[in-house]
Amino acid sequence: MFPLLSIAQARDEVRRAITALEPDDLEITAALGRVLAEDVTAAHDVPPFPNSAMDGFAVRSGAAGRRLPITGEARAGRPAGRPLPDGEAFRISTGAVLPEGADAVIEVERVQERDGALVTEIDVDAARNVRTAGEDLAAGTVVLTAGTRLGPAELGVAVSAGRGTLLCGGIPRLAVVATGDELVDPGEPLQPGQIHNSNAVTLGALAQQTGARVFTVSGAADTLDETVEALGIALEEADVLVVSGGVSVGPHDHVKPALEALGVQQRFWGVALRPGKPTWFGTREGRLVFGLPGNPVSSMVTFLLFVRPALNAMQGAAFEAPRRTAVLAERIARFPQRDEAVRVSLATAPDGTLQARPTGPQGSHISSSMLGADALAILEAGDGGVEAGTTVSVEPI
Ligand code: AMP
Ligand code: MG
Repeated sequence: MFPLLSIAQARDEVRRAITALEPDDLEITAALGRVLAEDVTAAHDVPPFPNSAMDGFAVRSGAAGRRLPITGEARAGRPAGRPLPDGEAFRISTGAVLPEGADAVIEVERVQERDGALVTEIDVDAARNVRTAGEDLAAGTVVLTAGTRLGPAELGVAVSAGRGTLLCGGIPRLAVVATGDELVDPGEPLQPGQIHNSNAVTLGALAQQTGARVFTVSGAADTLDETVEALGIALEEADVLVVSGGVSVGPHDHVKPALEALGVQQRFWGVALRPGKPTWFGTREGRLVFGLPGNPVSSMVTFLLFVRPALNAMQGAAFEAPRRTAVLAERIARFPQRDEAVRVSLATAPDGTLQARPTGPQGSHISSSMLGADALAILEAGDGGVEAGTTVSVEPI
Protein backbone atom coordinates (compact mmCIF):
# COMPACT_ATOMS: atom_id res chain seq x y z
CA MET A 1 0.00 0.00 0.00
CA PHE A 2 3.05 2.26 0.26
CA PRO A 3 3.78 5.00 -0.38
CA LEU A 4 0.49 6.54 0.71
CA LEU A 5 -0.75 9.39 -1.45
CA SER A 6 -1.84 12.68 0.06
CA ILE A 7 -5.52 13.54 -0.27
CA ALA A 8 -4.61 16.10 -2.94
CA GLN A 9 -2.48 13.62 -4.91
CA ALA A 10 -5.22 10.99 -4.78
CA ARG A 11 -7.74 13.55 -5.98
CA ASP A 12 -5.47 14.55 -8.83
CA GLU A 13 -5.34 10.92 -9.91
CA VAL A 14 -9.14 10.79 -9.95
CA ARG A 15 -9.40 14.13 -11.73
CA ARG A 16 -7.04 12.99 -14.47
CA ALA A 17 -9.13 9.88 -15.15
CA ILE A 18 -12.40 11.74 -15.77
CA THR A 19 -14.09 12.52 -19.05
CA ALA A 20 -17.31 14.50 -18.99
CA LEU A 21 -20.37 12.55 -20.19
CA GLU A 22 -22.28 13.48 -23.38
CA PRO A 23 -24.75 16.26 -22.57
CA ASP A 24 -28.53 15.84 -23.02
CA ASP A 25 -30.88 18.47 -24.45
CA LEU A 26 -33.72 18.45 -21.93
CA GLU A 27 -37.16 19.94 -21.58
CA ILE A 28 -36.76 22.46 -18.81
CA THR A 29 -39.19 20.61 -16.53
CA ALA A 30 -36.88 17.58 -16.66
CA ALA A 31 -33.74 19.52 -15.76
CA LEU A 32 -34.11 19.86 -11.98
CA GLY A 33 -30.92 18.77 -10.23
CA ARG A 34 -28.96 18.52 -13.49
CA VAL A 35 -25.79 20.45 -14.31
CA LEU A 36 -26.03 23.11 -16.99
CA ALA A 37 -23.74 22.37 -19.95
CA GLU A 38 -24.10 25.77 -21.66
CA ASP A 39 -24.29 29.41 -20.69
CA VAL A 40 -27.82 30.81 -20.68
CA THR A 41 -28.22 34.29 -22.14
CA ALA A 42 -31.36 36.39 -21.71
CA ALA A 43 -33.09 36.38 -25.11
CA HIS A 44 -34.89 39.62 -24.22
CA ASP A 45 -35.24 42.05 -21.37
CA VAL A 46 -36.94 40.74 -18.22
CA PRO A 47 -39.35 42.27 -17.56
CA PRO A 48 -39.81 42.66 -21.32
CA PHE A 49 -41.61 46.03 -20.95
CA PRO A 50 -42.01 48.77 -18.35
CA ASN A 51 -44.87 47.77 -16.08
CA SER A 52 -46.70 48.58 -12.91
CA ALA A 53 -45.52 47.33 -9.52
CA MET A 54 -48.93 48.10 -7.97
CA ASP A 55 -52.65 48.10 -8.58
CA GLY A 56 -53.51 51.77 -9.14
CA PHE A 57 -53.54 54.35 -11.87
CA ALA A 58 -51.06 55.10 -14.63
CA VAL A 59 -50.48 58.85 -14.64
CA ARG A 60 -47.97 61.46 -15.61
CA SER A 61 -45.86 62.63 -12.62
CA GLY A 62 -46.99 65.83 -10.94
CA ALA A 63 -48.14 67.61 -7.78
CA ALA A 64 -50.82 66.52 -5.33
CA GLY A 65 -54.41 67.66 -5.81
CA ARG A 66 -54.73 67.04 -9.53
CA ARG A 67 -58.09 65.87 -10.88
CA LEU A 68 -57.60 63.30 -13.67
CA PRO A 69 -60.47 61.63 -15.54
CA ILE A 70 -60.12 57.82 -15.69
CA THR A 71 -60.37 57.09 -19.41
CA GLY A 72 -58.83 53.68 -19.97
CA GLU A 73 -57.42 50.53 -18.44
CA ALA A 74 -54.27 48.41 -18.69
CA ARG A 75 -54.47 44.89 -17.26
CA ALA A 76 -51.85 42.16 -16.91
CA GLY A 77 -51.54 40.61 -20.37
CA ARG A 78 -53.90 43.23 -21.88
CA PRO A 79 -52.18 46.51 -22.68
CA ALA A 80 -54.30 49.69 -22.93
CA GLY A 81 -53.60 49.77 -26.66
CA ARG A 82 -53.27 53.56 -26.88
CA PRO A 83 -51.16 56.24 -25.23
CA LEU A 84 -52.31 58.03 -22.08
CA PRO A 85 -53.48 61.55 -22.99
CA ASP A 86 -52.10 64.42 -20.92
CA GLY A 87 -54.30 65.20 -17.91
CA GLU A 88 -55.95 61.77 -17.76
CA ALA A 89 -55.40 58.50 -15.86
CA PHE A 90 -55.72 54.82 -16.83
CA ARG A 91 -56.61 52.17 -14.30
CA ILE A 92 -53.66 49.73 -14.15
CA SER A 93 -53.01 46.30 -12.57
CA THR A 94 -49.77 44.92 -11.21
CA GLY A 95 -47.67 43.62 -14.10
CA ALA A 96 -49.61 45.52 -16.81
CA VAL A 97 -47.68 47.44 -19.48
CA LEU A 98 -47.21 51.08 -18.48
CA PRO A 99 -48.95 52.97 -21.28
CA GLU A 100 -46.94 55.37 -23.39
CA GLY A 101 -47.34 58.88 -22.04
CA ALA A 102 -47.46 57.68 -18.41
CA ASP A 103 -44.31 57.75 -16.30
CA ALA A 104 -45.66 56.72 -12.88
CA VAL A 105 -48.31 54.71 -11.09
CA ILE A 106 -50.18 56.06 -8.12
CA GLU A 107 -51.49 53.41 -5.76
CA VAL A 108 -55.21 52.95 -5.43
CA GLU A 109 -54.95 53.91 -1.73
CA ARG A 110 -53.49 57.35 -2.56
CA VAL A 111 -56.35 58.75 -4.62
CA GLN A 112 -59.91 59.85 -4.10
CA GLU A 113 -62.13 58.37 -6.78
CA ARG A 114 -65.41 59.99 -7.74
CA ASP A 115 -67.52 60.69 -10.84
CA GLY A 116 -65.19 58.78 -13.16
CA ALA A 117 -62.14 60.74 -12.12
CA LEU A 118 -59.47 60.60 -9.42
CA VAL A 119 -57.87 63.28 -7.29
CA THR A 120 -54.23 62.66 -6.37
CA GLU A 121 -53.55 62.90 -2.62
CA ILE A 122 -49.77 63.04 -2.93
CA ASP A 123 -47.02 64.41 -5.15
CA VAL A 124 -46.16 61.75 -7.71
CA ASP A 125 -42.52 61.53 -8.81
CA ALA A 126 -41.55 60.07 -12.16
CA ALA A 127 -40.87 56.29 -12.02
CA ARG A 128 -43.02 55.81 -8.90
CA ASN A 129 -44.17 52.15 -8.83
CA VAL A 130 -42.72 51.54 -12.28
CA ARG A 131 -40.59 48.47 -13.01
CA THR A 132 -38.32 49.23 -15.94
CA ALA A 133 -37.65 46.82 -18.80
CA GLY A 134 -34.59 44.67 -18.17
CA GLU A 135 -34.47 45.59 -14.48
CA ASP A 136 -34.32 41.88 -13.59
CA LEU A 137 -32.38 40.40 -16.55
CA ALA A 138 -30.95 42.57 -19.34
CA ALA A 139 -31.24 41.23 -22.91
CA GLY A 140 -28.03 39.60 -24.10
CA THR A 141 -26.42 39.12 -20.69
CA VAL A 142 -25.35 35.71 -19.38
CA VAL A 143 -27.73 34.89 -16.55
CA LEU A 144 -26.59 31.31 -15.77
CA THR A 145 -23.18 29.80 -16.50
CA ALA A 146 -22.22 26.28 -17.58
CA GLY A 147 -21.45 24.10 -14.55
CA THR A 148 -24.33 25.45 -12.46
CA ARG A 149 -26.44 22.84 -10.67
CA LEU A 150 -30.06 23.60 -11.55
CA GLY A 151 -32.43 24.21 -8.66
CA PRO A 152 -35.93 25.67 -8.84
CA ALA A 153 -34.64 29.26 -8.91
CA GLU A 154 -32.22 28.54 -11.78
CA LEU A 155 -35.02 26.87 -13.78
CA GLY A 156 -37.26 29.89 -13.19
CA VAL A 157 -34.58 32.32 -14.35
CA ALA A 158 -33.93 30.22 -17.46
CA VAL A 159 -37.64 30.24 -18.33
CA SER A 160 -37.85 34.01 -17.81
CA ALA A 161 -34.79 34.37 -20.02
CA GLY A 162 -36.75 32.72 -22.81
CA ARG A 163 -35.65 29.09 -22.62
CA GLY A 164 -37.82 25.99 -22.93
CA THR A 165 -34.99 23.45 -23.14
CA LEU A 166 -31.53 23.30 -21.59
CA LEU A 167 -28.36 21.45 -22.48
CA CYS A 168 -27.39 19.49 -19.36
CA GLY A 169 -24.43 17.30 -18.48
CA GLY A 170 -25.03 13.53 -18.72
CA ILE A 171 -25.91 11.40 -15.70
CA PRO A 172 -23.31 8.90 -14.48
CA ARG A 173 -24.62 5.34 -14.22
CA LEU A 174 -23.37 4.02 -10.94
CA ALA A 175 -23.21 0.53 -9.42
CA VAL A 176 -22.67 -0.26 -5.75
CA VAL A 177 -21.29 -3.63 -4.64
CA ALA A 178 -21.04 -4.25 -0.89
CA THR A 179 -18.68 -7.08 0.03
CA GLY A 180 -18.69 -9.02 3.29
CA ASP A 181 -19.88 -12.37 4.65
CA GLU A 182 -21.26 -10.56 7.69
CA LEU A 183 -23.76 -8.40 5.82
CA VAL A 184 -27.53 -8.72 6.15
CA ASP A 185 -30.17 -6.70 4.30
CA PRO A 186 -31.89 -3.78 6.03
CA GLY A 187 -34.59 -4.85 8.51
CA GLU A 188 -33.60 -8.53 8.52
CA PRO A 189 -32.86 -10.27 11.85
CA LEU A 190 -29.18 -10.67 12.75
CA GLN A 191 -27.58 -14.06 13.38
CA PRO A 192 -24.44 -14.19 15.54
CA GLY A 193 -21.61 -12.24 13.93
CA GLN A 194 -23.79 -10.49 11.39
CA ILE A 195 -24.36 -6.76 10.86
CA HIS A 196 -26.71 -4.80 8.69
CA ASN A 197 -25.46 -3.66 5.31
CA SER A 198 -25.67 0.07 5.87
CA ASN A 199 -23.03 1.05 3.31
CA ALA A 200 -25.09 -0.12 0.36
CA VAL A 201 -27.73 2.38 1.43
CA THR A 202 -25.49 5.31 2.40
CA LEU A 203 -23.30 5.00 -0.72
CA GLY A 204 -26.32 4.71 -2.99
CA ALA A 205 -27.89 7.71 -1.29
CA LEU A 206 -24.72 9.79 -1.57
CA ALA A 207 -24.49 8.89 -5.26
CA GLN A 208 -28.10 9.88 -5.90
CA GLN A 209 -27.60 13.10 -4.02
CA THR A 210 -24.70 13.87 -6.34
CA GLY A 211 -26.90 13.38 -9.39
CA ALA A 212 -25.86 9.84 -10.36
CA ARG A 213 -28.31 7.11 -11.36
CA VAL A 214 -27.75 4.08 -9.13
CA PHE A 215 -28.80 1.29 -11.46
CA THR A 216 -27.76 -1.67 -9.33
CA VAL A 217 -26.89 -2.41 -5.74
CA SER A 218 -25.57 -5.90 -5.09
CA GLY A 219 -23.56 -7.87 -2.58
CA ALA A 220 -20.68 -10.33 -2.66
CA ALA A 221 -19.49 -12.88 -0.13
CA ASP A 222 -15.83 -12.90 0.86
CA THR A 223 -14.61 -15.33 -1.78
CA LEU A 224 -12.59 -14.42 -4.85
CA ASP A 225 -15.04 -16.14 -7.20
CA GLU A 226 -18.11 -14.37 -5.89
CA THR A 227 -16.30 -11.06 -5.79
CA VAL A 228 -15.13 -11.43 -9.40
CA GLU A 229 -18.64 -12.37 -10.49
CA ALA A 230 -20.42 -9.51 -8.72
CA LEU A 231 -17.89 -6.89 -9.80
CA GLY A 232 -17.85 -8.22 -13.36
CA ILE A 233 -21.61 -7.91 -13.71
CA ALA A 234 -21.61 -4.41 -12.20
CA LEU A 235 -18.79 -3.30 -14.51
CA GLU A 236 -20.68 -4.23 -17.67
CA GLU A 237 -22.91 -1.16 -17.55
CA ALA A 238 -21.39 1.16 -14.99
CA ASP A 239 -19.69 4.48 -15.67
CA VAL A 240 -18.70 4.35 -12.01
CA LEU A 241 -18.42 1.30 -9.76
CA VAL A 242 -18.26 1.84 -6.01
CA VAL A 243 -17.20 -1.17 -3.97
CA SER A 244 -17.52 -1.26 -0.19
CA GLY A 245 -15.19 -3.30 1.99
CA GLY A 246 -12.70 -6.03 1.19
CA VAL A 247 -10.05 -3.65 -0.02
CA SER A 248 -7.65 -3.91 2.88
CA VAL A 249 -4.86 -6.44 3.53
CA GLY A 250 -6.77 -9.19 5.35
CA PRO A 251 -6.84 -12.80 4.09
CA HIS A 252 -10.53 -12.37 3.20
CA ASP A 253 -10.16 -9.13 1.28
CA HIS A 254 -10.66 -10.08 -2.37
CA VAL A 255 -11.56 -6.83 -4.06
CA LYS A 256 -8.10 -5.93 -5.35
CA PRO A 257 -7.31 -9.30 -6.92
CA ALA A 258 -10.84 -9.50 -8.31
CA LEU A 259 -10.52 -6.10 -9.99
CA GLU A 260 -7.12 -7.08 -11.31
CA ALA A 261 -8.61 -10.27 -12.77
CA LEU A 262 -11.28 -8.13 -14.44
CA GLY A 263 -8.68 -5.94 -16.11
CA VAL A 264 -9.22 -2.86 -13.98
CA GLN A 265 -6.00 -0.92 -13.86
CA GLN A 266 -4.97 0.34 -10.42
CA ARG A 267 -4.33 4.09 -10.23
CA PHE A 268 -3.71 4.22 -6.50
CA TRP A 269 -4.12 2.22 -3.32
CA GLY A 270 -3.63 3.89 0.02
CA VAL A 271 -4.18 7.49 1.07
CA ALA A 272 -2.61 9.26 4.05
CA LEU A 273 -6.07 9.86 5.42
CA ARG A 274 -8.00 8.91 8.50
CA PRO A 275 -10.50 7.41 8.10
CA GLY A 276 -9.94 5.91 4.65
CA LYS A 277 -6.35 4.67 4.42
CA PRO A 278 -6.96 1.59 2.18
CA THR A 279 -8.95 3.52 -0.45
CA TRP A 280 -8.36 2.04 -3.92
CA PHE A 281 -8.94 3.62 -7.30
CA GLY A 282 -8.63 2.21 -10.79
CA THR A 283 -10.01 2.48 -14.31
CA ARG A 284 -11.07 0.24 -17.16
CA GLU A 285 -11.80 1.82 -20.56
CA GLY A 286 -12.94 5.11 -19.08
CA ARG A 287 -14.95 3.46 -16.29
CA LEU A 288 -13.99 4.53 -12.80
CA VAL A 289 -13.75 2.01 -9.97
CA PHE A 290 -13.50 3.03 -6.34
CA GLY A 291 -12.74 0.48 -3.64
CA LEU A 292 -13.80 2.11 -0.39
CA PRO A 293 -13.02 0.73 3.07
CA GLY A 294 -15.96 -0.96 4.75
CA ASN A 295 -16.18 0.92 8.00
CA PRO A 296 -19.31 3.03 7.65
CA VAL A 297 -17.61 6.35 8.31
CA SER A 298 -14.62 5.49 6.15
CA SER A 299 -16.84 4.63 3.23
CA MET A 300 -18.86 7.84 3.53
CA VAL A 301 -15.83 10.07 4.02
CA THR A 302 -13.92 8.56 1.12
CA PHE A 303 -17.01 8.80 -1.07
CA LEU A 304 -17.26 12.49 -0.22
CA LEU A 305 -13.57 13.15 -0.82
CA PHE A 306 -13.02 11.10 -3.99
CA VAL A 307 -16.22 9.78 -5.58
CA ARG A 308 -18.39 12.86 -5.26
CA PRO A 309 -15.90 15.14 -7.04
CA ALA A 310 -15.66 12.59 -9.85
CA LEU A 311 -19.45 12.41 -10.24
CA ASN A 312 -19.68 16.20 -10.25
CA ALA A 313 -17.03 16.57 -12.92
CA MET A 314 -18.55 13.85 -15.12
CA GLN A 315 -21.77 15.88 -15.09
CA GLY A 316 -19.87 19.05 -15.99
CA ALA A 317 -19.88 20.66 -12.54
CA ALA A 318 -16.81 21.76 -10.61
CA PHE A 319 -14.76 18.79 -9.37
CA GLU A 320 -14.34 20.12 -5.85
CA ALA A 321 -16.63 22.29 -3.77
CA PRO A 322 -14.67 25.32 -2.62
CA ARG A 323 -13.16 24.82 0.82
CA ARG A 324 -13.96 27.28 3.56
CA THR A 325 -12.21 28.18 6.76
CA ALA A 326 -13.69 27.85 10.22
CA VAL A 327 -12.51 28.28 13.79
CA LEU A 328 -12.35 25.13 15.92
CA ALA A 329 -14.76 25.28 18.85
CA GLU A 330 -12.94 22.46 20.69
CA ARG A 331 -9.42 21.09 20.87
CA ILE A 332 -8.84 18.04 18.64
CA ALA A 333 -6.00 15.58 19.16
CA ARG A 334 -3.99 15.12 15.98
CA PHE A 335 -3.15 11.84 14.32
CA PRO A 336 0.61 11.55 13.82
CA GLN A 337 0.78 9.62 10.53
CA ARG A 338 -2.15 10.70 8.41
CA ASP A 339 -4.34 13.74 7.74
CA GLU A 340 -7.68 13.40 9.44
CA ALA A 341 -11.15 14.21 8.11
CA VAL A 342 -12.98 15.24 11.26
CA ARG A 343 -16.76 15.43 11.00
CA VAL A 344 -17.88 18.82 12.26
CA SER A 345 -21.05 20.80 12.59
CA LEU A 346 -20.85 24.43 11.53
CA ALA A 347 -22.40 27.40 13.29
CA THR A 348 -21.95 31.13 13.03
CA ALA A 349 -20.70 32.67 16.29
CA PRO A 350 -22.18 35.99 17.51
CA ASP A 351 -19.12 37.81 16.11
CA GLY A 352 -19.84 36.37 12.66
CA THR A 353 -17.04 33.80 12.49
CA LEU A 354 -17.83 30.30 11.31
CA GLN A 355 -17.26 27.77 14.08
CA ALA A 356 -16.57 24.06 13.59
CA ARG A 357 -17.41 21.62 16.36
CA PRO A 358 -16.62 17.88 16.14
CA THR A 359 -19.72 15.70 16.11
CA GLY A 360 -18.50 13.49 18.97
CA PRO A 361 -16.28 10.39 18.99
CA GLN A 362 -14.59 10.08 15.61
CA GLY A 363 -13.90 6.33 15.27
CA SER A 364 -14.36 5.01 11.74
CA HIS A 365 -17.09 2.65 13.03
CA ILE A 366 -19.05 5.43 14.80
CA SER A 367 -21.66 5.99 12.11
CA SER A 368 -23.49 8.42 14.39
CA SER A 369 -20.54 10.81 13.95
CA MET A 370 -21.95 11.49 10.49
CA LEU A 371 -25.22 12.71 11.98
CA GLY A 372 -25.38 16.48 12.06
CA ALA A 373 -22.08 16.76 10.20
CA ASP A 374 -22.03 19.81 7.92
CA ALA A 375 -18.43 19.53 6.83
CA LEU A 376 -15.18 17.64 7.03
CA ALA A 377 -12.43 19.57 8.79
CA ILE A 378 -9.17 18.43 7.23
CA LEU A 379 -6.48 18.40 9.94
CA GLU A 380 -2.89 17.83 8.90
CA ALA A 381 -1.03 14.89 10.42
CA GLY A 382 1.14 15.85 13.34
CA ASP A 383 1.84 15.59 17.03
CA GLY A 384 -0.14 17.06 19.87
CA GLY A 385 -3.45 18.69 19.14
CA VAL A 386 -5.11 21.49 17.32
CA GLU A 387 -6.29 23.95 19.93
CA ALA A 388 -9.74 25.52 20.15
CA GLY A 389 -9.66 28.85 18.34
CA THR A 390 -7.37 27.60 15.55
CA THR A 391 -8.50 28.33 11.99
CA VAL A 392 -8.92 25.14 9.98
CA SER A 393 -9.89 24.26 6.43
CA VAL A 394 -13.34 22.69 6.09
CA GLU A 395 -14.99 20.97 3.17
CA PRO A 396 -18.79 21.31 3.18
CA ILE A 397 -20.65 18.03 2.72
P1 AMP B 1 -13.61 -4.29 5.51
O1 AMP B 1 -13.26 -3.01 4.82
O2 AMP B 1 -14.31 -5.26 4.61
O3 AMP B 1 -12.40 -4.87 6.17
O4 AMP B 1 -14.63 -3.94 6.66
C1 AMP B 1 -14.28 -3.06 7.71
C2 AMP B 1 -15.37 -2.95 8.71
O5 AMP B 1 -16.52 -2.39 8.09
C3 AMP B 1 -15.82 -4.26 9.33
O6 AMP B 1 -16.14 -4.04 10.68
C4 AMP B 1 -17.06 -4.59 8.53
O7 AMP B 1 -17.95 -5.42 9.23
C5 AMP B 1 -17.66 -3.23 8.29
N1 AMP B 1 -18.43 -3.23 7.07
C6 AMP B 1 -18.03 -3.74 5.88
N2 AMP B 1 -18.97 -3.60 4.95
C7 AMP B 1 -20.02 -2.99 5.56
C8 AMP B 1 -21.30 -2.58 5.11
N3 AMP B 1 -21.68 -2.77 3.84
N4 AMP B 1 -22.12 -1.96 6.00
C9 AMP B 1 -21.71 -1.76 7.26
N5 AMP B 1 -20.52 -2.13 7.74
C10 AMP B 1 -19.67 -2.73 6.91
MG1 MG C 1 -14.92 -7.19 4.68
